[in-house]
Amino acid sequence: MILRSTAHASPDVTFADALLRGLAPDGGLYLPVALPTLPPGAPASWQGLPVADIASRVLGHLVGDELHRDAFDALVRDAFDFPSPTVPLGDGLAVLELFHGPTLAFKDFGARFLARAFGHVLAARGERATILVATSGDTGSAVALGFHGVPRVRVVVLYPAGKVSRFQEAQMATLGGNVTAVRVPGAFDDCQRLVKRAFLDPSLADLKLSSANSINIGRLLPQAVYYFAGWLAAGGPEAGEVVFSVPSGNLGNLTAGVIAQRIGLPVGRFVTACNVNDVLPEYLRTGAYRARPARPTLSNAMDVGDPSNFARLAALHGGTLDAMRANLWGVSVGEEETRQAIRKTYEAGGYVIDPHGAVALAGAQRFRRETGERRTIVALATAHPAKFGDVIREELGFVPDLPEPWRDWTSRPLLARDLATTEYEEFRDSLRQAAAA
Ligand SMILES: *Cc1c(COP(=O)(O)O)cnc(C)c1O
Repeated sequence: MILRSTAHASPDVTFADALLRGLAPDGGLYLPVALPTLPPGAPASWQGLPVADIASRVLGHLVGDELHRDAFDALVRDAFDFPSPTVPLGDGLAVLELFHGPTLAFKDFGARFLARAFGHVLAARGERATILVATSGDTGSAVALGFHGVPRVRVVVLYPAGKVSRFQEAQMATLGGNVTAVRVPGAFDDCQRLVKRAFLDPSLADLKLSSANSINIGRLLPQAVYYFAGWLAAGGPEAGEVVFSVPSGNLGNLTAGVIAQRIGLPVGRFVTACNVNDVLPEYLRTGAYRARPARPTLSNAMDVGDPSNFARLAALHGGTLDAMRANLWGVSVGEEETRQAIRKTYEAGGYVIDPHGAVALAGAQRFRRETGERRTIVALATAHPAKFGDVIREELGFVPDLPEPWRDWTSRPLLARDLATTEYEEFRDSLRQAAAA
């Protein structure tokens, strides 16, 4: 697979290079130069296969040429070791549950594959790396758990003290081993600033710092897999084209869906369901891209004011607004509408949906009402409702239980390193110590 930067001002690279680099040197995002379609009938023939087998076929098709076949297959199986079931809600609407991985959110798909592919490439090159991430919660835990135990990689996660949930903190800061959690006495922006400065610091060159954020192509491609699983579960060839409703923030999930479509998945259209942070729906409506500060909402993983994958999404549509409008239907879902979707979904059949999935469901219903769409709509549920116990209690009067293996997380001892200040020099010393440990 050859990849090119969306900024068109740096050389093309292989998948392995794009993986280690993350961002292209010209500031653009890597996208495959070509997305060859699967053999006709291939997706339909995967009916009944577990998601790991679907992953092996989709990812083998995309990047299998570069990585050793058996090793690649093993790493894909290891990455996709949890299910992604589909739950029918009636009226041609279904929910694809993407929250059965280790952090109970869909970012596990990207993080687990990225980590294993990263380890694979480092081993082939005899290199080591330090992954540095700043997080407001979910990304850090997915990356920490994704890379935990992967040889040749040290992970350092920065998070703002007191501003992540206890569960998220436990998932980042109780792992130990090759994962170091650094607690910063400030806000997420302070964490972000420290990380950015470290990446530009020539005195840290020997640490081979790398990022594993959502712009890495290695996080994006594995997300194409569950669109195939969702289509098959919704009936596959019998359903024909389906519509996916995608709860969107940085647009990585949506971009992966469009990649799945380009390589042959029969997708009729995508509903781009945003909360009030609706840069893309506004763009589709007005043609003007207006970045702005994010506003806090219930679906906080989607509180994004300048979505980082926009350039990829535009490039995949040939850079034309008309092509984007034909394929993407934008909708902005307010807070009360989100709460109402949680209540109505429960009242209709006892199904408990988290606020992110609720935005996708509300978006799907609005799409159906306003366009008369008749095809099956699959809404993506990106987080387990138990991660949002407060909102669920307010709407439904009870708190859903965390699944069994997750219950004891918050009683594990925290191993975080505390910074006394948000000064760069203190952080740099701490980073050096972590990398040497
Ligand atoms: C990150 C996240 C999203 C948004 O996904 P993008 O790929 O950034 O659009 C939606 N829901 C949950 C639970 C998330 O963690």
